Amino acid sequence: MDRTLSTCRHLYNDSLAERKKQGELNRLKREFQVFPWGKPEWISYEDQANDLSESKTSFQKEVHSQALQNTLKRLDRSFKNFFNGFGYPRFQGRSRYNSFTYPQSGFELDEGKLVLSRIGSLKIILHREMEGRIKTCTIKKDVDQWYAIFTVEIERRIEAVPAATKIGIDVGLMSLLTLSNGEQIEPPKFLRASGKRLAREQIELSRKKLGSKNRGKQRLKAARVHRTIRNQRKDFAHKTSRQLVEKYDHIVFEDLQIQNMMQNHHLAKSISDAGWYQLINFTKSKAEYAGKVVELVNPKGTSQVCICGCSVPKDLSVRIHNCPNCGRIVGRDHMAAIVIESRSTAGIAGIEACQRHPNREPMKQEATLLVGW
Ligand SMILES: [Zn+2]
Repeated sequence: MDRTLSTCRHLYNDSLAERKKQGELNRLKREFQVFPWGKPEWISYEDQANDLSESKTSFQKEVHSQALQNTLKRLDRSFKNFFNGFGYPRFQGRSRYNSFTYPQSGFELDEGKLVLSRIGSLKIILHREMEGRIKTCTIKKDVDQWYAIFTVEIERRIEAVPAATKIGIDVGLMSLLTLSNGEQIEPPKFLRASGKRLAREQIELSRKKLGSKNRGKQRLKAARVHRTIRNQRKDFAHKTSRQLVEKYDHIVFEDLQIQNMMQNHHLAKSISDAGWYQLINFTKSKAEYAGKVVELVNPKGTSQVCICGCSVPKDLSVRIHNCPNCGRIVGRDHMAAIVIESRSTAGIAGIEACQRHPNREPMKQEATLLVGW
């Protein structure tokens, strides 16, 4: 092992010297305008590996060929680091160069023994059970002890999302959530009441004279109501998102950002969406923490189709979905939630869709107030 280490170290230093010489040659050619002058020539890993395989010294013939190639790879890496702004590669003294690597093969673990190609069978003490597939083996000398370092590849387990606990959710203009199982979640009544109160305060504010003392007071009053609503709404979003994440593993919402781009002429809808952003964001972060999935799907026409695939156009005043094709009669929002759930594309794609949308602050607060929730 000492001899292998020494052979590798010499190969490293000789190959470094060769590259250094070529670098010096490039510099001289440039300085003295020696012709023919083209691009500077560099010696690559491949060049050196070819030279090595063509002519080996008697010492090098004693060493596993991949361990030698790995030595050249190390030199190549330190040159790449140099070109990326790190220090120039250094010649390696006996104390600095203290390891060699079998990058693929040439080693085998066998019942308390490590068999190394060209070296032999060694007794080994395993500090812990080997896990995964062994990829490389590095033999390292530390003063007077030798260590074997293994890198292993471990399969990452991806938990499948159970389809039984998947749910689609329609967030509607009617300020409530409709789930694909038909359940509805209504915001508390006081949110609506606070909304009305704020509207009253704002009307009052508009009546006060610009720049007057009373206007200042009224603005403060309106701002306090504003804050109350903000907190109430936040509280509702926290409670609701907690419920959803506790109950379901895979939660499917419409992608409201796409929705807004599609129909921003529909002011009422985009205003109520602001509150939904908060709810969806809370659900997303709670789901992440609990290892569950929130997926955002294409919202296009979710209230205009049936789960059977049939198109059932209806304007906002029509609250019942009545499919002439399959005969299903359910609430408009209920069918929308079923369609939203059906647009989900399994677990992993869902996670990606979720990551495409980093957390966002709700839209302008002023706009959300008059709607109530
Ligand atoms: Zn139908």
